[in-house]
Amino acid sequence: IATQRTSLSSRLNKFLRERYLNLPQGEFCQVTYVWIAYCGMDLCYKTRTMDFTPKTIADIPEWDTIGQTEGFSTEMPLAPACMFRDPFLLDPNKLVFCEVLKNTREPAESNHRNSCNKIMEKIKELHPWFGMEQEYTLLGVDGHPFGWPRLGFPKPQGTYYRCVGADRAFGRDIVECHYKACLYAGIKISGTNPEVMPSQWEFQVGPCEGIEMGDHLWMVRFLLHRVCEDFGVVATLDPKPMTGDWDGAGCHINVSTVQMRAEGGIEYVLNSIEKLRKRHAEHIRVYDPNGGEDNKRRLIGCQVFSSINDFSPGVANRGASIRIPYRVAQNKCGYFEDRRPAANCDPYAVTCAMARTCMLEGEE
Ligand code: ADP
Ligand code: MN
Ligand code: MN
Ligand code: MN
Ligand code: MN
Repeated sequence: IATQRTSLSSRLNKFLRERYLNLPQGEFCQVTYVWIAYCGMDLCYKTRTMDFTPKTIADIPEWDTIGQTEGFSTEMPLAPACMFRDPFLLDPNKLVFCEVLKNTREPAESNHRNSCNKIMEKIKELHPWFGMEQEYTLLGVDGHPFGWPRLGFPKPQGTYYRCVGADRAFGRDIVECHYKACLYAGIKISGTNPEVMPSQWEFQVGPCEGIEMGDHLWMVRFLLHRVCEDFGVVATLDPKPMTGDWDGAGCHINVSTVQMRAEGGIEYVLNSIEKLRKRHAEHIRVYDPNGGEDNKRRLIGCQVFSSINDFSPGVANRGASIRIPYRVAQNKCGYFEDRRPAANCDPYAVTCAMARTCMLEGEE
C-alpha cells in the first residue's frame, strides 16, 4: 500500500551523488532532449553525449523518439527548438526543447509549436509580449496534497495567499530551488508567490516575445517536475485538484503589442478585448488540453473566477475573465490579462489563439 508521502529515491544518499557529479567530464557535453509526449501533456526526455559544447541551437543535431501516428507506433524526428543551461548536471551541459515531427516531417498531433511559430512570424513586427502565471499544486507521492493532514483538511482558505509561516507555506523549498534553477538555466522567470489553496503555488514567466513564451513555459515545467523529484513530491498542473471549496489552478496570460505599450495604447487593448469577446467559446476550447472540459471543473464562477460561460472584462477586477490592470488603466497604455487558461494549457496553443484573434489583421 502506498503510505509513503515522499519517494524512496528522494531519500537516497545525496552526498554520494554529489561526489560522482563533481567528476570532471573532459571535453564531453551531456545534452538532454526534452519534448511533449503524444498525449500533449506529459514531458519526456533522453540524454546523449556530444564531443563538443554546442554554442547555439543550430549545433544540436536532430534525434528521434517512438510515438504514435494514426494509431501506429512509429519513429518520430525530434527537431531542436530552444537551448538552456542544465541546472542539474551543470555547465557545460544543456537542456534542449524539441518539436516532435511525423516521419513525413509534418508536425505531430501534439505539436502546437509548429503552427504557433508560423503565426508569430507573420506578426513579428508587432513585437507581441506574453507573460504567463503558472499555478500548480504539490502532492505527496500518495496523490494527497503535500502537507495536508492525512485525514481531514487543513484550515479553510483565507490565510494562505502570499503568506509566510510553517502552518501555511507547504513546500517552500521546492519553490525556491526551482526559481534558482530557472535563473541558472536562462529561463525568463519573473516571480513567484504562494497561492490561495495550501500547497498551491505560482510562478510567472515573461515577458517573452512570440514563440519564446511556449518554449520557456514548457521548459520551466520540466524543471519543476525534476526539482520536485529531488524532494520526493509531485507537482500537478490539474486545474481543479481538490473538489469543494478549494481554488483551482490557472495559467493567466498577460498580453501586449508594441502599440499597446506605447502612449495611448489602451485603445489597442480595448480593441483586442472586443475581438476576444466574439471568440469566447473558441478560446475556451484551446485553454485546456481537453477542449474546455478541464476548465468546466475550474471556472465555476465565484469571487476570483469567472464562469466558463461568461465573457466579463473589467478594470482591476480579479473575478473578470479579462482584466485590465489598475496601473494600465491609469497610464492608458500597457497590457491586458486573460484569466481563463487552465494550469494545464499548452502555451503554444494559447499564445497562438491570442495572436490569431488579436493581432492577425484581416486573414483569419
Ligand atoms: P497578477 O497581478 O495577475 O498576479 P503577476 O505579477 O503574477 O500578475 O504576473 C504578471 C505577468 O505579466 C508576468 O508574467 C509579467 O512578465 C507579465 N507582463 C508584465 N508586463 C507585460 C507586458 N507589457 N506584456 C505582456 N506581459 C507582461
Ligand atoms: Mn499572479
Ligand atoms: Mn489562484
Ligand atoms: Mn495566481
Ligand atoms: Mn494574474
